[in-house]
Amino acid sequence: MLKDVYAGDLTLSDEGRTVVLAGWVHRRRDHGGLIFIDLRDSHGVVQIVVDPENTVAHAVAHRARSEWVLAVEGTVRRRSAETVNTDMSTGEIEVVPTRIEVLNEALTPPFAVNEESEVDELVRLRHRYLDLRRPGVAEIIRLRHEVVLFMRQFLAKQGFYEIETPTLIKSTPEGARDFLVPSRLQHGHFFALPQSPQIMKELLMVSGFERYFQMARCYRDEDTRANRIVELTQLDLEMSFVDEEDVMSLIEELFIEVAKRFGGGKRLAQEPFPRIDYADAMARYGIDRPDLRFGLEFVDVSDAVRESDFKVFASAIAAGGEVRAMRVPGQAEMARRSVDSLVEVARGGGAKGLANIGFLAGEELRSPIAKFLSTEEIAQLRTLTSADDGDMIFLSADQPAVVSASLALVREELATRLELADPDVLSFAWVTGFPLLEWSNEEQRWDSLHNPFSGFVEEDAPLLETDPGSVRAKQYDLTLNGTEIAGGSVRLHRRAEQEQVLRLMNYTDDEMQERFGVLLDALEYGAPPMGGIAAGIDRVLMELVGSPNIRDVIAFPKASSGSDPLMGSPQPVGQDQLDELGLRIVSLE
Ligand code: ASP
Repeated sequence: MLKDVYAGDLTLSDEGRTVVLAGWVHRRRDHGGLIFIDLRDSHGVVQIVVDPENTVAHAVAHRARSEWVLAVEGTVRRRSAETVNTDMSTGEIEVVPTRIEVLNEALTPPFAVNEESEVDELVRLRHRYLDLRRPGVAEIIRLRHEVVLFMRQFLAKQGFYEIETPTLIKSTPEGARDFLVPSRLQHGHFFALPQSPQIMKELLMVSGFERYFQMARCYRDEDTRANRIVELTQLDLEMSFVDEEDVMSLIEELFIEVAKRFGGGKRLAQEPFPRIDYADAMARYGIDRPDLRFGLEFVDVSDAVRESDFKVFASAIAAGGEVRAMRVPGQAEMARRSVDSLVEVARGGGAKGLANIGFLAGEELRSPIAKFLSTEEIAQLRTLTSADDGDMIFLSADQPAVVSASLALVREELATRLELADPDVLSFAWVTGFPLLEWSNEEQRWDSLHNPFSGFVEEDAPLLETDPGSVRAKQYDLTLNGTEIAGGSVRLHRRAEQEQVLRLMNYTDDEMQERFGVLLDALEYGAPPMGGIAAGIDRVLMELVGSPNIRDVIAFPKASSGSDPLMGSPQPVGQDQLDELGLRIVSLE
């Protein structure tokens, strides 16, 4: 090694010790005589003090610039009382060099790497290797290492084997588009990159491993959003001879530990994690991953306004819809402009509008719709929503799916505006009781809500023939602060049942064999009952560090456009490569 200690590890106990350090010039201050260099390495920063008397070292220190790479040999000295820096872990000492050697010079970086500053994301990503030098940025990547290492050790202790599965495979549907890789040896044939290792992990259970996990790279060709990326890492696991409770309790124990060790002092909202039924979550929060750090629950008020003279309400209900209300404490006098902008937010969920009633003191109302409602209706709305003086209620009238989507957006927006979600809390919740299938109007067939491998509650089996939409899946999702961080299920481990579900999804026997034949065949060779889960490492890290941007927790992330500004991909390839792959690019414009 060109060094014998890390800069950031030095403390007062090293006083008098001769050390060899190597790292980067974090900051350099030339006081005319004394030169101070903060030398940075992966463990932190230590101050080097160069006296002019030490002419050779001083000359080098004089020349050195930010981000140059230096080796420094010297002695650790206690700082004088007035120069102690309590903000630095090495602030009680400094190093007096006997030798400074320039290992490499550096260009001036396109942005300062020694301070927290706002830098355009594209510039950061284009120079990500420099961005990663910035202390706050690098910290998250190191934390990620700690979290992943802990998860590995936790699972190994519980008897799990870490097994890699291939990434050039055949499509494994998880509801996204596949990334395809053309085959050179079989023109016109393609590999798919895994959306998840789902089929492989089920096959490993058939093989008899009983407990598998993997830090699995998964690829989903979807439009990117703040917490959605095309290339993600999942802690993927599968277990044999388990029911839902077994998987859920293992994961709950793991995440409680992760939250306590790596949550940066954030408080766990509830332990054990609360459980919400899917239908209940949709009714109360309009979403299957509610943020439970704050209230703003919805109440169905349809019965109170079914016969109302206010046609917006009455006709929505008559058309098979409903009216739901959300109480917002203390906001009866919300500014007109704010209310109007919430109407716009509601429209984003498909609603035609958003009604509101502010309950002022002394029975007084502030509402554009109150004049259309009877005193009795208003009294009932107030009772049903438990509104106090000073509270506002927002009401949405439409088909249930539209009301859910619209009010959920309004709830989320209000939480942001009113700062209702405590950033120092980690609020986990399980969501269970999902339907196995949902009707796709677009494709006119049943589709799986998660993936087609989820098992169903045994007593619902007869409903597969008569009322597939009400069959409950053995599926469980784990949410954290309103983000879905994990999802899994107990699987269909018998061929007949797996085929029955695929048939409901309109697969013909041939299609089934072509797409899932390997799994279906394997299920016939003594597949054990099995279940598993996959947790999104990127999202978990986001919540642990409280970052709103998933790219912050990935060493080399794609940009929000889905492309890679650092390496410049995707990119066109040469004709010779296309020829080899038997591909021709044709313009479809
Ligand atoms: N394969 C599922 C997913 O990627 C997770 C699971 O069911 O284990 O969402």
